[in-house]
Amino acid sequence: MAPSPEPTTAGGRAATAAEPVLRASGLHKTYHGGMLSRGGAVRAVAGVDLELYAGETLGIVGESGCGKSTLARMLVGLERPDQGEVTFRGRPFFTRGGVPRDIRRRVQMVFQDPLTSLNPRMTVHDIVAEPLRVHRLSPNARAMRDRVGELLTLVGLPPDRMNRFPHEFSGGQRQRVGIARALATEPDVIVCDEPVSALDMSVQAQVVNLFAELQSTLGVALVFIAHDLAVVRHVSHRVGVMYLGKLAEMGPAAEVYGAPAHPYTMALMSAAPVPKPQLRGRSRIMLAGDPPSPVAPPPGCRFHTRCWKATERCAEVEPALEAVGDHFAACHYAERAS
Ligand code: SF4
Repeated sequence: MAPSPEPTTAGGRAATAAEPVLRASGLHKTYHGGMLSRGGAVRAVAGVDLELYAGETLGIVGESGCGKSTLARMLVGLERPDQGEVTFRGRPFFTRGGVPRDIRRRVQMVFQDPLTSLNPRMTVHDIVAEPLRVHRLSPNARAMRDRVGELLTLVGLPPDRMNRFPHEFSGGQRQRVGIARALATEPDVIVCDEPVSALDMSVQAQVVNLFAELQSTLGVALVFIAHDLAVVRHVSHRVGVMYLGKLAEMGPAAEVYGAPAHPYTMALMSAAPVPKPQLRGRSRIMLAGDPPSPVAPPPGCRFHTRCWKATERCAEVEPALEAVGDHFAACHYAERAS
């Protein structure tokens, strides 16, 4: 089921929403001394701003290593940014005492690999009931059991299997258990980090459709992070494209997919299967080389070492994310749809 995008403003967000439910401002995150850093500092996220509005799905796409997962972890408060902040309905995530309990309850996460994110020694009942217990949302064991049954039904699992263990379920069913656990606290926001990439292709579509259905019935706002462009297009109202720790382009999904303005987005789109007949025949753009290391990102525009449009200015001056028609692109020579 495809989303029904809200009418949008020039900024590409839902015009009917007032204040964002989640806002990230100037997020930076650098890791020191990791396996990939070779003694340097890995700049995983290097200045990301975004807003998420009630009832919308914001897709984030980019190649592996572009900082998507680090961004996801900061958006749910699992990682503290080095600079910048995340706010939930205007309140900062991080206080002296850590993330406030009510914000933790309202912002949940679905992880990439259900096999490692579910405790193999716990029954499905106990896994889904854990957040109910932590946040004291069920008055007694009977009510908790009923609620777990409701949540399993909501995600398409038979409630009579709640006493089984994760290994007794298929990959797709385990991810449904992870989604039921995320829904248990009635969150306003769910951040999904590559939620279908560990699943077989045939199962991916079912789980993606489940997200779309849950959003339209529950109105929860989703951040949907993936490297698969088709999957993100299917569920997202707006899309952000990440490259080497920064957003290269951001806007309504139809705009970003139909008329990309940033050369990196164009290259990504040209390499993806195109469902729209009018876009078929677009020639494929082959990018030179691999993305540079986040330990030593290039100066100026981070994409200039692979960009066929690059000039001297690109190597010296970093482009800001600026309005291009109905969306935003960080490119000195962004293409405007005619
Ligand atoms: Fe390419 Fe220059 Fe635009 Fe960067 S700023 S994407 S190098 S044209």
